[in-house]
Amino acid sequence: MDSRANEQAPHPLRAIASFHAHVYYDQETRAEAERLRTWIGERFVVTLGRWHDAPVGPHARAMYQVAFANDVFPALVPWLMLNHGRLSVLVHPNTTHPLADHTGHALWIGAPLEIRGENLPEQSEAELPREPNTQPTLSP
Ligand code: ZN
Repeated sequence: MDSRANEQAPHPLRAIASFHAHVYYDQETRAEAERLRTWIGERFVVTLGRWHDAPVGPHARAMYQVAFANDVFPALVPWLMLNHGRLSVLVHPNTTHPLADHTGHALWIGAPLEIRGENLPEQSEAELPREPNTQPTLSP
């Protein structure tokens, strides 16, 4: 048993500034990723990141990012559980610890994929919340 576990306080919720969902796709599933992106943009106050058709940073597959505020989580994440289809989605918090955020603190919807943790700093202030740039036009 790890005695250090008893000495550490739990991480407070306020450590989470925002969330990302990374939607992964390949040539076969790109059309599904496009449809999911449209559906998300129609329904949720999120910031849709650009398409990354080549691996970038810790992401070993093509993907786009969906950035969202903490209060969007309880609607968007269950909706993604129902609607991700064949796509893998990584949902992770943004604290000041990118490596932990993308690995131990993350959850997968669909099949888990490789995360290249060696491309992430242990600590960084880079992922600050941004204003969402889409307004939903449909209900979830
Ligand atoms: Zn991210």
